Amino acid sequence: MSYKFTQRIIRAQSSSDLSEQLEDADVDVLRAVGMSGRLHSIGAGIVRALGSTRGESQGQLVADLHKALSIQYPMLSNLEAKAAAVIAIEQWLRPHCSACHGRGFELIEGAPKLSDVACGECHGSGKVQILVPKKIEPATVWAGSLIDREVDRFRSSVQRRLGR
Ligand SMILES: [Zn+2]
Repeated sequence: MSYKFTQRIIRAQSSSDLSEQLEDADVDVLRAVGMSGRLHSIGAGIVRALGSTRGESQGQLVADLHKALSIQYPMLSNLEAKAAAVIAIEQWLRPHCSACHGRGFELIEGAPKLSDVACGECHGSGKVQILVPKKIEPATVWAGSLIDREVDRFRSSVQRRLGR
């Protein structure tokens, strides 16, 4: 899936939010995005959040993922299932350590070069550091891969409807 195509989907989603005037080509994308989003609400919700620059609430996305988690992990409490949903979404949207931007090493001061000193925030992993309680860790991992699958399904569904 190309970056450009993802950007088109995101544009169509935000157009529908703002009820903007649309070009004909965008109407097709908008219709495909709308229909695919009803079938794959988690995938559509994540792509929407990816394009969000205004910090909109992700309430619906959290609720959809929370529901899927409650079915898959009935032993978790309501609060635990919701926490797993919120963490999985956060990790998916911002996978990289914010201090080193995923590079894993400190920058050399005053030079555009990486040092050989591991990043103090992520200890060289380059990944975002969220302390996940042991009890919900498997559910969080499962939710992350569900998001992956749902994003793929949503995007392929849009593509299929656009006949490409
Ligand atoms: Zn780091």
